Amino acid sequence: MNAAFNGSIETYISPQTRAFLVRQHRLFIDGKWVEATDSGTMAVLDPATGRQIATAAAGGRGDIDLAVKAARRAFEQGPWRRTTTGDRGRLLWTLADLIEKHAEELAELDVLDEGSPYATVRNGYVADAIKHLRYYAGWATKINGQSVPVDNPNEWHVYTRREPVGVVGQIIPWNVPLLMAVWKISPALAAGCTIVLKPAEDTPLSAVRLGELVQEAGIPDGVLNIVTGDGSVGAALVEHPDVDKIAFTGSTATGKRIAQTAAGTLKRVSLELGGKSPIFVFPDADLKAVIPAAAGAVYLNSGQACTAGSRLYIHRKVHDEVVARITEYTKSLKLGHGLDRATDLGPLVSERQMNRVTGFLDEGRRDGATFVVGGERHGSEGFFVEPTVLTEVLDTMSIAREEIFGPVISAMRFDDDDDVEALVRRANATEYGLAASIWTSDVKLAHRMAHAIRAGVVWINGYNLFDPNLPFGGFKQSGWGREMGFDGLSLYTESKSVAVAL
Ligand code: NAP
Ligand code: MG
Repeated sequence: MNAAFNGSIETYISPQTRAFLVRQHRLFIDGKWVEATDSGTMAVLDPATGRQIATAAAGGRGDIDLAVKAARRAFEQGPWRRTTTGDRGRLLWTLADLIEKHAEELAELDVLDEGSPYATVRNGYVADAIKHLRYYAGWATKINGQSVPVDNPNEWHVYTRREPVGVVGQIIPWNVPLLMAVWKISPALAAGCTIVLKPAEDTPLSAVRLGELVQEAGIPDGVLNIVTGDGSVGAALVEHPDVDKIAFTGSTATGKRIAQTAAGTLKRVSLELGGKSPIFVFPDADLKAVIPAAAGAVYLNSGQACTAGSRLYIHRKVHDEVVARITEYTKSLKLGHGLDRATDLGPLVSERQMNRVTGFLDEGRRDGATFVVGGERHGSEGFFVEPTVLTEVLDTMSIAREEIFGPVISAMRFDDDDDVEALVRRANATEYGLAASIWTSDVKLAHRMAHAIRAGVVWINGYNLFDPNLPFGGFKQSGWGREMGFDGLSLYTESKSVAVAL
């Protein structure tokens, strides 16, 4: 695999992946692999070449109904209801073992489907998925209620129970497909819910393979159902009256539509949406550490990450040096197919996404930003955009306000006159509130900023620490609720109070 990449993916994938790609893919409903009721299919593309690599089933409203019915049966009549919490934990652990056993294959599928470099997917995302499942496997046996001492405890014995929410619809985006699926299913399964999962149209493959592993792990029929298809399949899931909760990751626009539709049945909703996360670099920061971190904050996944650090605020004293070093770093990055082990940066997921990003770059050009490096589509095959550094960006430009979801750094300055309040105002002058990062050796300054910035996570002298035990989610229009940790589990439980008159 160390030989120079010759452009033919067949040479670079395992026999298992090769066999998977040519297979006829179906929907996973009630433990069976079935065709879409209207026999719909959709092409799956490799974004690095634009060529079709597989065909997936395209479900519809009727398939969602069948999947919800299966999930309801598995929830109400068993078998999930009758599975002990210990067995629930064991099944999650078994699934983690199977993902570990098939890690290379799963990584290859996401590389082919979404485009990220193999090492990032295998050692980052797939490894995280395994950790995540094992973490929530441990929670299955620890979902405690409380004994509640009410005002008149001699007359009442009162306690709470945490019960599973019920049938959950989970809708995931095309960035980091396997990990997104596992982030969603693990707390829901640990809590005792049953699931209908809707992967993104652009990246259905690893979810289908995950369904096969769920079956192999012995998770009972109907507990996890997977309906691949387009956005209308997601909408059908949100509208379905027998779904108790929707968990969604994706764009803020679609999140708002989901919240509106869900209001019709008042189903529970949790949302993990977009961001426009700021990074502040102070003159006393360790620039050696800043450069790869600030670049990585935007170039990870070619910028297609909700936490992308897309607003880079640099103190005037170090502005030119930071820009020069990030530019040098950017020029050293090799764009290419994710299966090529020399690749640093893959393509964007689709032609649509590529056009969206180049559209933002055109707006930046019109608005008068300076293009230091990058700024164009890369090559003519696949959906690549050059990693791009923009300077002289103003807070008011669309490139500084909107989620670009591409490899684009918008650098801005601040000065000695800007006190903490002024910087925090700038950080918070966005409808988003997902993440932020502060680079300084001044501990007081770092914590004052961290407390005042309205974002779900603040990293100090670092970026993108994710951990299954660390709550993650957004303030403001970046979302509702927190995933990971106990918070993530509680998204899938209802609290019930039981009072016994003594
Ligand atoms: P999106 O519409 O939010 O897609 C996310 C998921 O929702 C996909 O599974 C999608 O299905 C599904 N969906 C679409 N319309 C739906 C509806 N009306 N009801 C229920 N589900 C629906 O995102 P996108 O259009 O692919 O991407 C557009 C922009 O969103 C990106 O450029 C980026 O800025 C942002 N985004 C953010 C994140 C994040 O992690 N924060 C993730 C993805 C995108 P289909 O894919 O089959 O349409
Ligand atoms: Mg694809």
